[in-house]
Amino acid sequence: MNEYDSAKMLDMLSIKEDFVQTENQEEADLLVLNTCSIREKAQERVFHQIGRWKKLKDNNPDLKIAIGGCVASQEGANLSRRAPAVDIVFGPQTLHRLPGMYRDATEENKRQLDISFPKIEKFDHIPDTKTDKPTAFVSIAEGCNKYCSFCVVPHTRGHEVSRPLDDILDEIKNLAEQGVREVNLLGQNVNNYKGPHKGETKSLAYLIEKTAEIDGIDRIRYTTSHPYEFRDDLVDLYAGLPELVSHVHLPVQSGSDRILKLMRRRYTADFYLKLIERIRKNRPNISFSSDFIVGFPGETKQDFQDTLDIIDAVRYDESFSFIYSPRPNTPAAEMEDNVLEGEKKERLAILQQKLNQHSFSIGRKMVGTTKNCLVIGISKKNPGEMQARTENNRVVNFASSDKLIGKFTEIEIVDQLTNCLRGTLVEA
Ligand code: SAH
Repeated sequence: MNEYDSAKMLDMLSIKEDFVQTENQEEADLLVLNTCSIREKAQERVFHQIGRWKKLKDNNPDLKIAIGGCVASQEGANLSRRAPAVDIVFGPQTLHRLPGMYRDATEENKRQLDISFPKIEKFDHIPDTKTDKPTAFVSIAEGCNKYCSFCVVPHTRGHEVSRPLDDILDEIKNLAEQGVREVNLLGQNVNNYKGPHKGETKSLAYLIEKTAEIDGIDRIRYTTSHPYEFRDDLVDLYAGLPELVSHVHLPVQSGSDRILKLMRRRYTADFYLKLIERIRKNRPNISFSSDFIVGFPGETKQDFQDTLDIIDAVRYDESFSFIYSPRPNTPAAEMEDNVLEGEKKERLAILQQKLNQHSFSIGRKMVGTTKNCLVIGISKKNPGEMQARTENNRVVNFASSDKLIGKFTEIEIVDQLTNCLRGTLVEA
C-alpha cells in the first residue's frame, strides 16, 4: 500500500508542481519519506533517515523535508518538535494535499501539518497512473475498522472507506490500456469491500468479476484479506473465474484460539481451517500464504505449538512472520508481556524454519512442471535474463529477450534456488 501511495505522491508532485524524480539527494529541492509504523523498528528508521537528511539541509537551506505515511499520522506535531528539520507532515489520507503543502511551506516559509482523515476525498484529486509495467496495484479501500488488539493501522489510516466501484474499474481500464495485465486490489481488509454503485453496495467478489471482464486484465490478486469477512460469494468465485489467481494471502497470525481471542481476530483456528478447506474444494491446487506474529503477550509454549500445528495443517507457501511489537494506543500494548526476548527470537526461528520447509517443498514439486507465467521485467542479478511470476507469486528467472515483458509465457521450472526458481522458455 505504501508503494502505491508513494507512486501517487510522485505523480501529483510532477503534475502540479513540475517535479522530476532524482536519484541524487544533493540536487533535490524536496525530500519525501513515506513511513510505516506497523512495528517499532520501521518507525525508528524514520528518525535515523531524518538525521541523515538534516545534513543536506545544512548545505541547502531551501531544501524541504516532508514526512508522510503512518509515522507522520501517529506522531503529528511531535514529529517536527522532535525533528525540527521537518517542514511538512502529512498523513496517508492527505497525501493529495502534498503539492499544496509544499507550495505553502516554500512561499510562507512555515511548517505545514495535515494528518486529518477527510473521507475518500483523496481519490478525487489523484491523477490517473502512468505506467510501463505489466503489473499494478489499485487501492480499493482505505483504513480499517477491525481494531485487532496489536495493530496500529485503524489509528493511523482511519476508518474503513470503500472507493466507488466505477472509479476503481475506470482506473483499471486505464491501466489495461497502458499494457497492464495483472492487478493487485489493495486494502487493509479487502473482503469487507462495500463499494458504492448506483445506490447499492457491491462486494469484493462482484468487483473481481467486473475486473475480469476488462480487456487485457488476465490476472487478479487482492491484499490483504481478513478470514472473518471472507464471504461465500468470494469462495464461490474460485470454482470458476480463471483470472482470479490460485493463490490467497490469508493472514492467520496465530493458531491458538486463546491468543486469537486476545488479538481480537474474531475467528478460531477451526473456523480458519474450514474456510481453507472450502476454498481448496473449489480450487484444489490453490496455495496460501499468511502473516504470523510470535511472542504476543502471554503466548505460552502450547499457544506457540498450536501455531506450528496450523502451519503443518495448511502447508503455507512463502509467508511473513514477525516478533510482536507493542504499538501506541493499542490494547495489546497494555497486556502483561511475560515472554522473554530470547524465547521470542527462538520461537521466530523455529516458526520460520517450518515455513521454509513447506514453501521449499511446494517449490520442489513445481520443478519439472510447466507454468503459465507473466514476464515482469529484466532479472535484477543477470541482465541477460528475464523475470516472470507464477500464479503463486514465485519469481522465475529464465533466458530470453526483453520482447516478452508484459506477456504470458509457458515456462518449464527446472530448478529451485534460495530466492527464486529457474526456468526455460517453452512457448511464448
Ligand atoms: N490488515 C492486514 C494486515 C496489515 S499489517 C490484516 O489484518 O491481515 C501486516 C502484518 O503485520 C500483519 O498481518 C501482522 O502479522 C503484522 N503486524 C501488525 N501489527 C503488528 C505488531 N504490533 N507487531 C508485530 N507484527 C505486527
